[in-house]
Amino acid sequence: MLRADCANCFGLCCVVPAYAASADFAITKPAGTPCPNLLADFRCGIHTQLRDRGFPGCTVYDCFGAGQQVAQHTYGGQDWRSSPEHAQEMFAVFPIVRELHELLWHLTEAQRHPAALSLHTELDELRVELARLAGLPPAELLALDVASRWQRADPLLSRVSELVRAEAPGPERRGADLIGADLRRKRLRGANLRGAYLIGANLREVDLGLADLIGADLRGADLRGADLSEALFLTQFQVNAAQGDTATRLPAGLDRPTHWSTTAPTARPGRAAGTRRRR
Ligand code: SF4
Repeated sequence: MLRADCANCFGLCCVVPAYAASADFAITKPAGTPCPNLLADFRCGIHTQLRDRGFPGCTVYDCFGAGQQVAQHTYGGQDWRSSPEHAQEMFAVFPIVRELHELLWHLTEAQRHPAALSLHTELDELRVELARLAGLPPAELLALDVASRWQRADPLLSRVSELVRAEAPGPERRGADLIGADLRRKRLRGANLRGAYLIGANLREVDLGLADLIGADLRGADLRGADLSEALFLTQFQVNAAQGDTATRLPAGLDRPTHWSTTAPTARPGRAAGTRRRR
């Protein structure tokens, strides 16, 4: 439910957002207009060449399963091409459902942590409510105040984070500006990195176990050889935006991006192979 199923979507992520010509997108496209590469059957005409053709941003995006939810549930399989009277409404509904699904992703993960057992009932109540909201008809979805749900969930997720990280408390770096920082020798296990700016940061071979990464900006961060297998609140979107390799360890449920390096890191001068921090 919370993983993208493009075969059951109507290419909503190729229509709804606006794209500005940049390193991520080769073209400028206004919001609510189909990308010229979108085929009549809603497949991408350059799917296998996205990076080579100047569309790496498309390999990063993740809808948390909102695409197929809107296409198949909210609109019962009626697509915006054959039912253009629904198009604008569908395009407005999609980002709302995406936000609900992103929140559901985090709540689902939070419930998996035994250390947060005392919060499971609260987490479950909110998760069930959000799942119900995501299934509402379009008019009710458009009237939703999604921000208030995030405000309700945020302290709950923070408490989960504190309980889980209590096993190995790390540094407090919430919202820190770590853009381009060399963090290879920093202890980040159990760190609070909520909302941290890690754009282009060097996290090579760093142990990020039990580090809270909710909302952290990992665009271009070097995760080669890093251990994120126990990281908290990591999403496929964040992983896709970073750089990694075959030695990068990811949590269960997240996929290794196909555009990541297929080679393992080599030992660097002055640091012997196998010196990654042990748990
Ligand atoms: S290039 Fe392909 S994946 Fe990217 S927006 Fe256009 S159709 Fe969608």
